[in-house]
Amino acid sequence: MSVQTSLYRDTEIFDLITKENNRQLHGIELIASENFVSPQVMEAAGSVLTNKYAEGLPGKRYYGGCEVVDQVEQIAIDRLKALFNLTWANVQPHSGAQANMAVFLACLQPGDKILGFNLSHGGHLSHGSPVNISGKYFQPFFYGVEQETGLIDWNKVEETAHKERPKLIICGASAYSRDWDYVRLRQIADSIGAILLADISHPAGLIAKGLLNDPFDQCHIVTTTTHKTLRGTRGGVIMMRNDFPNPFGITTPKGEVRMMSSLLDSGVFPGTQGGPLEHIIAAKAIAFGEALTENFYNYAIQVQKNARVMATEFVNRGYKVISDGTDNHLMLIDLRPKGLTGKIAENSLIQADITVNKNMVPFDDKTAMTTSGMRVGTAAMTTRGLVEKDMVRIVDLIDDVLMNHDKATTVAAVKKEINTWMQDYPLFQF
Ligand SMILES: *Cc1c(COP(=O)(O)O)cnc(C)c1O
Repeated sequence: MSVQTSLYRDTEIFDLITKENNRQLHGIELIASENFVSPQVMEAAGSVLTNKYAEGLPGKRYYGGCEVVDQVEQIAIDRLKALFNLTWANVQPHSGAQANMAVFLACLQPGDKILGFNLSHGGHLSHGSPVNISGKYFQPFFYGVEQETGLIDWNKVEETAHKERPKLIICGASAYSRDWDYVRLRQIADSIGAILLADISHPAGLIAKGLLNDPFDQCHIVTTTTHKTLRGTRGGVIMMRNDFPNPFGITTPKGEVRMMSSLLDSGVFPGTQGGPLEHIIAAKAIAFGEALTENFYNYAIQVQKNARVMATEFVNRGYKVISDGTDNHLMLIDLRPKGLTGKIAENSLIQADITVNKNMVPFDDKTAMTTSGMRVGTAAMTTRGLVEKDMVRIVDLIDDVLMNHDKATTVAAVKKEINTWMQDYPLFQF
């Protein structure tokens, strides 16, 4: 083990960062939750703002010297409000899971029932998994997709909601390629007096540009990560288009009714976090600014086009795409008809410098460590500048590797082709 003093550059770590940079540069990145940020987002994330403590909110801090970071955080809030047409936002959550936890803390008591999308059908851990705090402190129930269609049956969501009467319903997923019926979900929530939370972590960038249904009029509260299709630094945010008096009758010590925005602010700090990461908030502000541009609209359109072509190409080669296509940037592929597991696919593709993640498919008969499927998305490679014809080539290369995963020469040839191809594409293109 080597130990370095702070007087010298830490080559041990910087050599590894260079290695990671090369890995990202040479390969094809298809992990649906990843993207490449712009150089200015990275610069802000590595800035001196990391030195500053700023517990509280702009203009209401528990520390001195916050004049500058106040402005940074206010710009982040204002840009996010403009992006999604909001009246309120909190940009401090350190991640998507943290954003959800702050909402739960603001809206629920321990033991309350929540209803979310089935984790083994593509839901997220933070929506009630027994290994996550959301499933340990609250009582989770789930809705899922139909085996035949791969689609959510809203009537069944309603049935479960009426039977279990959760206090909060969560929509949104990590591996669902279709759009959401927020109008129907709100009717269901209203019929049992539940709060409706949308977690748009994956499709946020497409929603921002009007390419998918807008959840904000229907869902009381919306959370998202900032690093998936939104293409910002790693992080989370909580948003509302319309604030409302808290529905649970919680009052301030002076007996005033608290607004949901105030409960959510408290849910973040002091509820689940300490000081905000102002360097990351600066990077978020820059990413929101980028997302407000016409360029980002073109990017989001291309992400969606690329995903559609990719899904069609997989189907044409006999792959089982769950729900037979995609509305957003990702798709889930059941590899069982090809006689493969997700684990074999992930491991053999990485030999060719193609990164995907193995993923459970609905009604999977294998464990989470093996899985029957893989999830792929187009957000990252679209940032690098790839278009429809490149998706055809990628699916060809994937098919080549998967059908010859035990032939080292084929896999090596694909890797070589990819490394040469990627030399023409810098990490951040737009
Ligand atoms: C990615 C994701 C999250 C979690 O984000 P982290 O930043 O990793 O905590 C939460 N919800 C959904 C639906 C996600 O896809």
